[in-house]
Amino acid sequence: MEHVLRRLLDTLQNRLLFTHMVVALAVLCVAILLLLALQAPLRAESMLQRMAEWLQPTVTLARSNFASLAVATDRESARRFFDFLHSQASAQNVRILLVAQPDGRILFDSVEQAVGLRWEPVSSSPFERLPHRMRGGSRMGMMAEVVRGAALLEGQDWHYVSTLLLAANSSWIDLVVLKMQPAVLQAMVESVLDLPGGLLASGLAALTLVVFVLSRWTAGAVTRSLNPLIAGTQALASGNLAYRVDTRHVSLAELHVLATRFNQMADRVQQSQQAQRDFVANVSHDLKTPLTSIHGYSQALLDGTAESTAARQRAALVISQEAQRLTERVEELLDLARVENNVLQLEQVDLVQLGAEVVESFRPQFAAAQVELRWVPAADLLRIRGDVARLRRVLANLLDNALKHTPAAGSVTLALQRLSAACQVEFTVVDSGEGISPQECERIWERFYRVDRARTRGGAGLGLAIVKEIVEAHGGTVGVESQEGVGSTFWIRLPA
Ligand code: ADP
Repeated sequence: MEHVLRRLLDTLQNRLLFTHMVVALAVLCVAILLLLALQAPLRAESMLQRMAEWLQPTVTLARSNFASLAVATDRESARRFFDFLHSQASAQNVRILLVAQPDGRILFDSVEQAVGLRWEPVSSSPFERLPHRMRGGSRMGMMAEVVRGAALLEGQDWHYVSTLLLAANSSWIDLVVLKMQPAVLQAMVESVLDLPGGLLASGLAALTLVVFVLSRWTAGAVTRSLNPLIAGTQALASGNLAYRVDTRHVSLAELHVLATRFNQMADRVQQSQQAQRDFVANVSHDLKTPLTSIHGYSQALLDGTAESTAARQRAALVISQEAQRLTERVEELLDLARVENNVLQLEQVDLVQLGAEVVESFRPQFAAAQVELRWVPAADLLRIRGDVARLRRVLANLLDNALKHTPAAGSVTLALQRLSAACQVEFTVVDSGEGISPQECERIWERFYRVDRARTRGGAGLGLAIVKEIVEAHGGTVGVESQEGVGSTFWIRLPA
């Protein structure tokens, strides 16, 4: 049974259906109970009305008995009259009292508990709309007035109807019929049970139908919106990275967002797969070119094509240079991999000192290229937690690039400052070099991207990618502003 239920609730549609049904039924129950609670006074009123209606024949019957009792005053008649009252009480499921007025002493009680006690109707009851009227002048023959209201007897709340049974001079006897006021909950249950069965059943059936249709509709909308997403994940899982979810078919807002994000994720996955392919292609190409040279020149040395000492020296020089280039490439790749794996060795880094050191190490190269190198440190001491070797690598790559792209007589400035508002520190490398076009500015951070596609100059196009990885691993950002023919400004910002 439990297994079947679980299987049934396994689908989103069924679960929604079930939840809706439960909620609807709960709401319905609360509504019925509220309605009945509000209705309680009205129901009490109508019950009193009914009691009053059958009181009259009872009184008439009682009077005929009482009249004979009054005439006969024999015990046998009295017993018969009381038996008659007892039978009426049990037949109508009520309690009957005879009350001697005006002192209110109870003469007879159909349950025989209150004989001798005082009968005190509660005047504050909301049902006590009709006031007690003087009955002194009534005679047995006339239609007696029926009074109804609420009363407290033996600590219990009762509804009652009462009427004059017999009057003599200034005293009289009232016939009182009592019905216990049920507790609120009991009254409600009774009210529900009182409702016609057909009405209850048809109401429930109609509600079930409405809830069922509504739930099917809502659940249908959810599943319809989910289907394109399911198809998308299936396609992606089976390697079709070009598949995109058609968001027009996803109507629910949250699922629409999910579908959009799914497409963005698919874009990223596709991009990263493409980048991986490019990476392999670029690495192979970058390693192949020096290897071809090395192979060619070493072959020339081996087979004696390089005959003269000068030719042999030249071959050896090329082999050495290309081997050097290969080493650099491999080192760059390893560096990139290490930064990607996020193995930073964090320590307190004095950025002013770091900047000064890097600038000093570049002085000879700049002097040789006749490019002026300036260092503008921050006025105060700037320390951050960072990987000093990696940060040195960042500054070296930026200065190296600036030097490569700035002609003789140009200038390069490395500056360090605190960006107080953003709680960051910023290094800028400003050069008066050739500059970069706006389209290229967007792409230069990509791996293996080189402005000079012919690869006649510069490195493998990994320098800026490494800069970006390192800075981002430190929680920072990178950027560039450049104007062709005027110069470029590269900046990196690190959290202070
Ligand atoms: P590489 O190691 O080949 O220099 P980078 O990733 O460092 O590769 O740079 C990518 C491209 O950005 C280079 O091809 C170069 O043309 C361009 N670039 C980098 N720095 C500068 C600069 N200061 N001025 C002009 N172009 C630059």
